[in-house]
Amino acid sequence: MILIRDRLRAIRWHLTGRCVARGCGRLMVLHTRRQRERCYDTPLDVALTARGWLLAHGLDAEVVDAWCQANGVDPDAIVEPVVPVSMHAHSA
Ligand SMILES: [Zn+2]
Repeated sequence: MILIRDRLRAIRWHLTGRCVARGCGRLMVLHTRRQRERCYDTPLDVALTARGWLLAHGLDAEVVDAWCQANGVDPDAIVEPVVPVSMHAHSA
């Protein structure tokens, strides 16, 4: 059932989600195949916050805010820009 739910979420994202490539922001469904490939090669217009970084490193969502408060870290502080996966492949 989890697989079906994730599939539906992916379809919904494809139909209603907006592109996060820098300077784009169009609906994903409005992209041609070539445009989508170009956007995949564009740096994302997003960055990782301290909260997101901690979540990505396996901390539970409930403890992230408490951890940040205890360590004097602003959970919304940007810690690193997010680079698309395809950028890593090209630089290799
Ligand atoms: Zn785009």
